[in-house]
This record gives sequence, structure tokens and C-alpha cells, in this order.
Amino acid sequence: MANTIQTDIAIIGAGPVGLFAVFEAGLLKMRCHLIDYLPQAGGQLSEIYPKKPIYDIPGYPSVLAQELVDNLVKQAEPFNPGYTFGERIETLEKRDERDFQLVTNLGTNVEAKAVVIAGGLGCFEPRKPEVEGLTKFENGKGVNYMILDPEQYRDKKLVIAGGGDSALDWAIFLSEVCSELTLVHR
Ligand SMILES: Cc1cc2nc3c(=O)[nH]c(=O)nc-3n(C[C@H](O)[C@H](O)[C@H](O)COP(=O)(O)OP(=O)(O)OC[C@H]3O[C@@H](n4cnc5c(N)ncnc54)[C@H](O)[C@@H]3O)c2cc1C
Repeated sequence: MANTIQTDIAIIGAGPVGLFAVFEAGLLKMRCHLIDYLPQAGGQLSEIYPKKPIYDIPGYPSVLAQELVDNLVKQAEPFNPGYTFGERIETLEKRDERDFQLVTNLGTNVEAKAVVIAGGLGCFEPRKPEVEGLTKFENGKGVNYMILDPEQYRDKKLVIAGGGDSALDWAIFLSEVCSELTLVHR
């Protein structure tokens, strides 16, 4: 039988915005349930760049992305949020004046009086370059689309392909970790 969860506010997305919404709702004595397609809280921060230092958070001259997520989770804890991980919200319907029904890809029903959509960029996947044979080198064989642990590059020769903020942020950070680093930008 499908699992049904009842809550005051259903929050789609357990990234930093969704997590902080729990705190704000909690101050108004409303209980939240968060649903995220990823297997853990933190959105882009935990999934894409957990060990990257962030410099633009008020009150923190520098904080690692995962550390920020851990603090947001801790800050939400007193308000007892519920979490459903690894499931994607596929439908959202308004049933009457006060109630919404959300259903995930695995059939979990969430009934809520209000819905917060904190989905960021959506359920994300890396945008891969069109390079023949690339898949042969994925899954631990040399080509990565996210840097989860910079230590895996210690004393290695690394090529970073990309020209955005993130490519440059990582190039600066990893230049202290790798034996040799090349940044390639079109
Ligand atoms: C490499 C990189 C470096 C960055 N560095 C910085 C920085 O230094 N400083 C800074 O301020 N910002 C930085 N950003 C931007 C920052 O990560 C985002 O602004 C932030 O994550 C947005 O938070 P969010 O909670 O809105 O969304 P997200 O973090 O995107 O979280 C949204 C969550 O919603 C979930 N979701 C979406 N749709 C559904 C659905 N239908 N069902 C279930 N779950 C769903 C997703 O799985 C995701 O976990 C960086 C981004 C990247 C990619």
C-alpha cells in the first residue's frame, strides 16, 4: 500500500533554501516534510561541491559547503522535519481550499496545507561534452563531473575542462593538491 504522509508544509527540495524554510516555518509553529530526489539533504552543495569553500554566507568568512548544510540541518532539527529522500515529486494537485496532494515517482503521497517549491535548478544531471568514448572513463576511471573529495586528486596530474566560476574556483583550490594542473577553456 502507498505510504501517506500528512504535514503542514510540503517542501520540494532539501537544498539550502528548503532546509532554511523549515526553520522559518518552525518559528510559526508549522511542521514541514521535505522531499528530495537526491539521497541526502543539501542540494547542489552536498551533491556537487561538498568540500568547496564558500565565501558569501553572512557571518561566515569561509565555510565548506557540507559544513553549511550540516549546520542548516542542525538548525532545522528542533522543528522535527520529516524527510523523504531518493524520490521525485511528479504530481501536485490542489484538492480543496486547504489541501494539496503530492505524489512521488515511487508512489508516496504527501498531503499538506501548503507547498514550498525549493527545487533550485530541478533534479540535475551533469551536462556532458560530446566526446566519443567518454563513458568508458566514467565511474571512477578518470573522468568526473563533480568533485566530491578533492583528496582523490592528491599528487595527481589533473585537467579541468570548463570556463565558469566553478572551474576557476576548483583550479585555484586544487592547485595546492595536485602535482600538475591544467585548465582548458574554449
Ligand atoms: C559548482 C557550484 C559552486 C557554487 N558555489 C557557490 C558559492 O560559492 N556561493 C553561492 O552563494 N552559491 C554557489 N553556488 C550556487 C548554489 O549552489 C545555489 O544557488 C544553491 O544550491 C541553490 O539552493 P536551492 O536550495 O535553491 O537549490 P538546490 O541546491 O538546487 O536544491 C534543490 C533540490 O531540489 C531537488 N528537487 C528538484 N526538483 C525536485 C522534485 N521534483 N522532486 C524532488 N526533489 C526535487 C533537487 O534534487 C535538489 O536537491 C554554486 C553552484 C555550483 C553548481
